[in-house]
Amino acid sequence: MRRLILDHALLPDGWAEHVGIDIEGGTIAAVHPNSASEGRERVAGIALPGLPNLHSHTFQRGMAGLAETRGPVGDSFWTWRQVMYRFLGSLTPDDVEAIAAFAMMEMLEGGFTALAEFHYLHHDADGRPYADIAELSGRIAAAARETGMGLTLLPVFYAQGGFGGAAPTEGQRRFVNDVESYARLLDGARKAVVGLDDAVVGIAPHSLRAVTPESLREVIAPAGEAPVHIHIAEQVKEVEDCLAWSGQRPVAWLLDHAPVDRRWCLIHATHLDAQEVEGIASSHAVAGLCPITEANLGDGIFEGADYLSRGGRFGVGSDSNIEISAPAELKQFEYSQRLKHRARNVLAEHEGQSTGRSLYDRALAGGAQALGRRIGAIAAGHRADLVVLDAAHPDLAAVSGDRWVDSYVFVAGKAVIDTVFVAGEAVVRNGRHVNREAIRARYSRAMARILS
Ligand SMILES: [Zn+2]
Repeated sequence: MRRLILDHALLPDGWAEHVGIDIEGGTIAAVHPNSASEGRERVAGIALPGLPNLHSHTFQRGMAGLAETRGPVGDSFWTWRQVMYRFLGSLTPDDVEAIAAFAMMEMLEGGFTALAEFHYLHHDADGRPYADIAELSGRIAAAARETGMGLTLLPVFYAQGGFGGAAPTEGQRRFVNDVESYARLLDGARKAVVGLDDAVVGIAPHSLRAVTPESLREVIAPAGEAPVHIHIAEQVKEVEDCLAWSGQRPVAWLLDHAPVDRRWCLIHATHLDAQEVEGIASSHAVAGLCPITEANLGDGIFEGADYLSRGGRFGVGSDSNIEISAPAELKQFEYSQRLKHRARNVLAEHEGQSTGRSLYDRALAGGAQALGRRIGAIAAGHRADLVVLDAAHPDLAAVSGDRWVDSYVFVAGKAVIDTVFVAGEAVVRNGRHVNREAIRARYSRAMARILS
């Protein structure tokens, strides 16, 4: 049993002081506000529940910054994807693990304490399965073990190159499985996370363009209670191609043809008509927003105000990992809506409510639901995942309560993160991951070789 005492903590029913928490096996056993400090380890600062990161491709951290030079014609998501396909062509299993560990370390330093890794890089550079088909899933699990990151591993089913069952392209050779080899991959992934505390394995059809209706049905059939994540409606071209193929927009098609419910996370869902907004909200699925990546890729702006006014659930993900910061994702979401609607404090629910707090609370709930784990609250029965902010920082010292969260999200960002606990263990101290030097050195060596 580990016994901490937190100076300030955001509990499900609000702010509390001198909060004792008892931790057993990584899970909070009891919470005692206004506790005496005797026999407890003091954690100075402002403790928030750690935010879940509901969507990432960790390997893409290695190509951050490599696609920011203007090309000959109309740069877009699709030209960025060509750079990405070239980058991943040469990655070895050791590279994948080194990059994943570096990205997870930055996530922990950036306020994320759990990750849903949407993992689609499966095979060797020639497109052949490794001797263990789940070799690279094992490397993701190893990076989570090394960094302490809480993991929901989502092995991705990718079978087609476009709508209507188009054959995959050469650039997609490392992703491709059929329904039968995908089942073996899932088995392997489940073995890879054994021993990784509280990990979950979910199911992830890559997108409607990467599956057929039949294969989609087959891969989601055995999901049970596991999370199901899918990329959807990120790009206008994807909407047009889906309309040409089926006569329906992607989200409308999915809602009509798949059992979308609270297990599901619809990644991006950028391009929606009013019926689709209502359809996702009433399905109780989570919209998996990746505001920084969506801005970087020029995807478009999510229908945030309308969706949240209908009670829609959301969480945030770092996706391409071009910038890794939990508060910056929330800020970018709100700013996208301010630019769209030419207004301020668009996503707060009512007069007098803090926008930062409102975003943070809902991203905690949506993220926890999408990851399929008991996380996202400082409460008995939840994992002891905490992000502790430096209360002496000038942006925090003179304010209190929800203003702390506004300053964290809109002003100071991840620079005010002091200590981060995952499952009751401190993995970040003084803003730095406890294994930072080794993880950074290995990443630097891998990148020097990859880019040489
Ligand atoms: Zn993605």
